[in-house]
Amino acid sequence: MSNALDWARIDTVLLDMDGTVLDLAFDNYFWLTHLPAAWGKPRGLAPDQAMQALMPHFIGLRGSLLWYCLDHWSELLEMDIVALKQECRDMIRFLPGAQDFLQQVRASGRRLLLVTNAHPDALALKQSQCPIHEYFEGLHSSHSWGRPKEDASFWTDFAQDCDVDLSRSLFVDDSEAVLRGAVAGGVSQVCGILAPDTSTPARQPFGDWPHVHGLGDISVSTR
Ligand SMILES: [Mg+2]
Repeated sequence: MSNALDWARIDTVLLDMDGTVLDLAFDNYFWLTHLPAAWGKPRGLAPDQAMQALMPHFIGLRGSLLWYCLDHWSELLEMDIVALKQECRDMIRFLPGAQDFLQQVRASGRRLLLVTNAHPDALALKQSQCPIHEYFEGLHSSHSWGRPKEDASFWTDFAQDCDVDLSRSLFVDDSEAVLRGAVAGGVSQVCGILAPDTSTPARQPFGDWPHVHGLGDISVSTR
């Protein structure tokens, strides 16, 4: 599958964080199990009842920057979300093969940037468990631009501010909506991740672009 990528036309590699570099098992466990249980308990709700009460909020905000905003969730749910995330921080880990891939990209002399919708506080928590900063030239949260990666206009502004030539960039992400935004925003090559969460089976290909199970399946060509 990695043969579908044209490395001769890639100067910069842009990577999503959760589900691409780091295991989405942490995020899924936190939002679907840990948070509903912790939120429901003082309210006398069983975990499944709490999940039912929370679901409308989850569905309503998907794809918006507010979904990723920990301040918003802390206020809405009247809980310290960052402190709650700290409780299961041991689950934050690299996806299999990710670190090798990051090293290969660096060794090839290409620029390597992280581009995430994660809130800066979430990014800091992930960094405290996994040294992602050691691999990337820069770690960028879309919160700095006030728009999520799903929004094509995010990419124009991001590219300008970070001096990235999107026509010579590869972007890898596990979200179809995000990849569509990136294509619409001018990223010339994108690739989808089929196994973002090691605790669940891999998904079927989605969208009209190359797919891999994980970053470890992409072979980086030297320049
Ligand atoms: Mg992701």
